[in-house]
Amino acid sequence: MPTDSTIELFGMQIDRVDLAAATERLLSWCGDSTSESCRYVVTPNVDHAVMFQTHADLRKAYETAAMIVADGAPLVWASRLLRCPLPERVAGSDLVPSLLTLASSRREPLRVFLLGAAPGVAQRAAQQIHNHWKNIAVVGTLSPPLGFECDRAENDRIIAAIAEAQPDLLVIGLGAPKQELWIAQHHRRLAAKVAICAGATIDFLAAEKQRSPVWMRRMGLEWIHRLASEPRRLAKRYARDAWVFPQLVWREWRGLCG
Ligand code: UDP
Repeated sequence: MPTDSTIELFGMQIDRVDLAAATERLLSWCGDSTSESCRYVVTPNVDHAVMFQTHADLRKAYETAAMIVADGAPLVWASRLLRCPLPERVAGSDLVPSLLTLASSRREPLRVFLLGAAPGVAQRAAQQIHNHWKNIAVVGTLSPPLGFECDRAENDRIIAAIAEAQPDLLVIGLGAPKQELWIAQHHRRLAAKVAICAGATIDFLAAEKQRSPVWMRRMGLEWIHRLASEPRRLAKRYARDAWVFPQLVWREWRGLCG
C-alpha cells in the first residue's frame, strides 16, 4: 500500500524523495550499526517497471528494499500524469556521487566497497574516488566472474571479502535484474550497512563509460545517449520497453479514471 512517503507506480512502491533527502537518509543509515541486515536501495527505470510486471523474484527483491527511488525520467513524468507526483528523478549514478560528497564533510571516513564492472574497472573507479573526494576510503573492489551468481563458493568468497572490509556503503554494479536479485538473496549475510544497486555507476566513476551531457539528463534524454553508445546490447530491450511502457501508463490511467 502507498503511504504518505511513498507512491505506488506500476506495482512498485517508490519513495517520494528528492536527491538531497535520499542522500541524507542514506548517510544516516551508513552511520547506523543497529540494523541487523544490510539495507539496500533499488533504482527503477522504465526497464525495471516492464520486468516488474512478470518477474516474481524481482518483485520479491523490491519488497525487502529499504529505499526505492525513481532512476528513470519517464517514471517521474508518469507519476505526474497519474496525479501522484514524485519530486524528481533520483538516478543511482547521481545518488552515489552525491553521497560521497556529503560524506566528505563528516569527521569519520566513509568506507566504500565497489562490487561489479569488468576486471580492473572498479580499481580505476577507486582511484578516481580518491582523487575527487576527501575522507572516502575505498576498502575493497571485486569484479565477479560471469555466472558467479549461481556459484555458491564464489558468492561465499564475495561475502567473506565484504565481511573483511566492513564497508559502510556497498556500490553494486552488476546490471538489472542481477544486482537486485543478488542483494535480495544475500543482504542478511552482508557486513555492509547500506548497498545501492547502481547499474553502470562504477563504469561512470572510472570514466570507462561516459554519461550523457547534463542538458540531456535534465530533459530526460539520457536513454538516447546510452542507446547510441551500446546499440547492440540495448536496442532490443528499448524497443520492447517502448512498446510495453505506454500500455502500463494507459492501464494505470484507466484505473485512475474508472
Ligand atoms: N556486470 C557485471 N557482472 C555481470 C553483469 C554485468 O559486473 O555479471 C556489470 C557490467 O560490467 C556493467 C554493469 O554491470 O558495469 C551494467 O550496468 P548497466 O546499468 O549498463 O546494466 P543494465 O542494468 O542496463 O543491464
